Amino acid sequence: LPIKLDNPALWRTQAYIDGKWIDAPHNAVFAVDNPATGQTIAQVTNLGSEQAHQAISAANSAWPAWRALTGKARAGILRKWFDLINQNADDLARIMTLEQGKPFPEAKGEVAYGASFVEWFAEQAKRIMGDTIDAPMPNSRILVLREPIGVCAAITPWNFPIAMITRKVSPALAAGCTVVLKPAEQTPLSALALAELAQQAGVPAGVLNIVTGDSEQSIAMGKVLCDSPVVRKLTFTGSTQVGRILMQQSAPTIKKLSLELGGNAPFIVFDDADLDAAVEGALASKYRNAGQTCVCTNRFYVHAKVYDAFADKLAQAVKQRLKVGEGFEHDITTGPLIDDAAIAKVEEHVKDALAKGAKVLTGGKRHDRGGRFYEPTVLTNVNRDMICMREETFGPVAPIVKFEDDLDVIKQANDTEFGLAAYFYSRDIGRIFRTAEALEYGIIGVNAGIISSEVGPFGGVKQSGLGREGSVYGIDDFLEMKYVCIGGI
Ligand code: ADP
Repeated sequence: LPIKLDNPALWRTQAYIDGKWIDAPHNAVFAVDNPATGQTIAQVTNLGSEQAHQAISAANSAWPAWRALTGKARAGILRKWFDLINQNADDLARIMTLEQGKPFPEAKGEVAYGASFVEWFAEQAKRIMGDTIDAPMPNSRILVLREPIGVCAAITPWNFPIAMITRKVSPALAAGCTVVLKPAEQTPLSALALAELAQQAGVPAGVLNIVTGDSEQSIAMGKVLCDSPVVRKLTFTGSTQVGRILMQQSAPTIKKLSLELGGNAPFIVFDDADLDAAVEGALASKYRNAGQTCVCTNRFYVHAKVYDAFADKLAQAVKQRLKVGEGFEHDITTGPLIDDAAIAKVEEHVKDALAKGAKVLTGGKRHDRGGRFYEPTVLTNVNRDMICMREETFGPVAPIVKFEDDLDVIKQANDTEFGLAAYFYSRDIGRIFRTAEALEYGIIGVNAGIISSEVGPFGGVKQSGLGREGSVYGIDDFLEMKYVCIGGI
């Protein structure tokens, strides 16, 4: 093993279908690297279309028995999975930091966050409730049953290698669905470790299947998952661009879709804001995971009266409190970007901003450590023509624009095809309601830079996606309503 684990059984490099760990034909593998060093840490099974079909068929065979269990029985198994995830939190975080790069304490935070969905949906499994409706005829009765949708496909990204999986798999399993999961090619090891724990928890063979593959095979397997009439639902977290492809590919089978796609989160600081609190919120929402989350702030709008003060405070905080390094080093806050393409994009956005007149308060270039490390950056004198204002940078860059007028800043904030998260700071109750209502986003942080929680409905409007994850609503995406009209009573 490239890393010491308390429980080496969690280091899995084979795919997982129908309760068995399997190799690809001809033992095909793909390399997974450590983004901090670029070194290969594992060779993981590289499956293709044929095994995706096998996984679908395993999930389909396992479905009747899984759905026939009581919600309480499914809850018990999920609860065991939750306990095992917690018991193995250190190892899961080690694997995550190794393949994803985020600082170890942040990885542990994600394990707890990821586990919270398993606990939550274990509880919800016992609370799947239908309705009775007053019938318009005296001799009939109307019932609404809630039933599992069936075999679900899940495709997940690399930025939250555990939480994006548990947020999909646990409501699916709680509802009585079975799953074929295709994790991101950058971070399959966390997914496979989760599957090992699911197996230990008693999730039956075929109920959760993990198909791993490189980027080419991911596309091929994605096609199989979309084309299959057996797969009733696809749940995806990733880029808007890939979301569109999956939606298109799912049209022939009229698949139900949940899509958590890209964002372009604005962060507005009004002139009545508590500036120190706003700086804290900005640090958390911008620089967490080196800026690589879909709810990370992408662009800051700060009122002219407090513009300089906010920008200076933020730049000071970034200089003093953020420390770049490898995830296992002590006291670091900011790891590497996931791959070479990611750092090239950040570099391009900053160069474009500088060419168009932006000023660097701190950072502004690759970090001296080289590789995929980028300096946490604060830019002022930013305007709307810069790429970083329109596209998701997905890196540790804070571009700050000056504004004067409430209506104008809301217009600018809404001027994007995205609608996932938005943040603003104000102490004025009227302005808080007006702004929260006017922002066209699925998630609004008011005087809060961290909004993710298993109890809140996570999801976007506009081209940021479809459906909601987590909360009491999250299970609805995995349930169908059946209307039963009983006559002749
Ligand atoms: P990111 O840009 O954050 O890597 P992507 O949307 O490219 O996000 O990837 C998210 C997930 O979607 C990954 O698991 C990846 O393998 C998968 N993926 C990428 N392209 C396709 C595709 N054409 N079909 C199916 N899955 C895909």
